[in-house]
Amino acid sequence: MSNASPQTPQKVLTAVAWPYTNGPRHIGHVAGFGVPSDVFSRYMRMLGHDVLMVSGTDEHGTPILVLADQEGVTPRELVDKYNAVIVQDLTDLGLSYDLFTRTTTANHHAVVQEMFETIRRNGYMVEQTTRGAISPSTGRTLPDRYIEGTCPICGFPEARGDQCDNCGNQLDPTDLIDPRSKINGETPEFIETQHFFLDLPALKDALTVWLDEREASGDWRPNVIKFSQNILEDIRPRAMTRDIDWGIEIPVQGWDTKRFYVWFDAVIGYLSASIEWARRLGDEDRWRDWWNTGAAATGHANPTATPADSAQPTEVGGADEGGTPDRRSEAQKTSEGRVERTDEGGTRHAYFMGKDNIVFHSQIWPAELLAYDGKGARGGEPGPYGDLRLPTEVVSSEFLTMEGKQFSTSRGHVIYVQDVIARYGPDPLRYFISAAGPETQDSNFTWAEFVQRNNSELVAGWGNLVNRTASMIHKKFGEIPAPGPLADVDEKVLQTVADGFGSVGALVGKHRQKAALAEAMRLVGEANKYVSDTEPFKLKEESQQERLATILHTLAQLVSDLNTILAPFLPHAANRVHLVLGGEGEFMPMPRTEEVRDLDDDRPYPIITGDYSATPRWERRPVVVGSPVGKPAPVFVKLDPSVVEEELARLAGQHPSGEVDHRLETDGGHPGDVVPTTPTGPATHADES
Ligand SMILES: [Zn+2]
Repeated sequence: MSNASPQTPQKVLTAVAWPYTNGPRHIGHVAGFGVPSDVFSRYMRMLGHDVLMVSGTDEHGTPILVLADQEGVTPRELVDKYNAVIVQDLTDLGLSYDLFTRTTTANHHAVVQEMFETIRRNGYMVEQTTRGAISPSTGRTLPDRYIEGTCPICGFPEARGDQCDNCGNQLDPTDLIDPRSKINGETPEFIETQHFFLDLPALKDALTVWLDEREASGDWRPNVIKFSQNILEDIRPRAMTRDIDWGIEIPVQGWDTKRFYVWFDAVIGYLSASIEWARRLGDEDRWRDWWNTGAAATGHANPTATPADSAQPTEVGGADEGGTPDRRSEAQKTSEGRVERTDEGGTRHAYFMGKDNIVFHSQIWPAELLAYDGKGARGGEPGPYGDLRLPTEVVSSEFLTMEGKQFSTSRGHVIYVQDVIARYGPDPLRYFISAAGPETQDSNFTWAEFVQRNNSELVAGWGNLVNRTASMIHKKFGEIPAPGPLADVDEKVLQTVADGFGSVGALVGKHRQKAALAEAMRLVGEANKYVSDTEPFKLKEESQQERLATILHTLAQLVSDLNTILAPFLPHAANRVHLVLGGEGEFMPMPRTEEVRDLDDDRPYPIITGDYSATPRWERRPVVVGSPVGKPAPVFVKLDPSVVEEELARLAGQHPSGEVDHRLETDGGHPGDVVPTTPTGPATHADES
């Protein structure tokens, strides 16, 4: 059998898109990257890697102001309310964040300001006068996203001020032919305004080198690489400040009426959350183990490097990994011979997001990092955070629709995570998402498929195997029996399932979770077939008892192995199966919500965190003869087909959230859901994902 275990633990940063604080999470929000990032993190921990999984709520930007107005509350009250709701949703789904925080912390504000100051000192943040849109009737800044018009490139009549959904090009509102406000239809007024622009053209060469290298690694989904390379063609400076009073202050005199653009700050959240995590541990520099390249960790930046040289992460060795020599060759191979995808030093930064946010993770954020590191055409030197790593992987998912239509809270066409968990538990939803989610193409949630998968795969497949195994052991022996000599059929099925550690693991490591889960469920089928082939329930004679004990021991081992293999996908069920087989305590550690105080301004807020150090290893653990096995309670619950009609009726009768103009809805699955261009703030596409 092939147990995968790493020769040396790697530092793995799981950077999960930041939900926008505009409402409770619906299942589309968690399908694309919430559950997949958790499956990945849990699996990486099982391999023994040092995982740091961070995210938080994205709380700045114009849509928050608009929504707060609509709800008659202050922006702060609004984000406090939805931050708490979102924290609960994600905790209940079992998403194992090391830290899930928020962008309104004093820590985040300070990190964003430091990033800005160093980027500016390095010459990549330049002041420019530009034209910003305001609403003539309210005098308020009109975000790009809320301006609609005809695309000057393809002629699409409903292009947004930030992007054309038809041809995919980034736009400025001033580019639009016949621009109009999506809020009230009026023609926006464009005024002269001063902003800081990120000088992306000065970072283009460094970005190109980095993307080419990422392409060569073969780690990225081809569409993500292509898209990212294509948008480099049209690279130009982008405004990183806005005329708005809700957001992070710009640490420059005379700029007190402006704030940072929400996307400039949201992506910095990956870094600031890592720093907050280390500060909360009382080990202030711990985050550097994930973020600093070897050069910075030893205090040697390379200010004279050309952009091409310095954008090569492979230039640095593994010196930041506690003095271990560069172990690329040994650490990147597992016992199955598959290659772990990491950059130098065995460090892997995996970013998870919906497809509408690729640009921020494959262009804006890497550009901010390169500018901070001083690796663009203007040179420069890193600030106090040192030489920061760029993303290793940008894992983008597609969108989930529901019953063939886009989610819409205003039309009441929505399924909230909290409702599904309350009625059916977290794992049936996690299972559906992993088995049928929008991994590489848009997918559709239907209640019929949810019920069908729950009943025929979870209940009749996996749950049945656990139940019949435990029931037979309980009835015949009351504990896991000692086996007699193994027959060929026993050896064979044990080997088949043990091989799953290699095959399923390799697929999860490559972000092919659908295929990984399908492979795991195929192995469940093999184990069920073993029961039909060996017919232990027919072995009633005294002379057959040794054979019966052998089969039941084998089955207990198969259930144990399969439970380990399925644990990243179904962590709650894994804990129950563990108990069924006589195990004690928690098998898969769970996240918890914790009320903390802001480290700098003492405000209270809830975080998601957890101690995942007891995560079991990704390997067979031999079952212990004599472990008591009681009468099992079902691990999964069979759903009556009437659930489908019930849920569809509930959906049809759902009261739409009438106060919220759906055109202003943000889907919130990502850091802001907003596309940057010149002036104005964020918005998001309504209802996708
Ligand atoms: Zn277009």
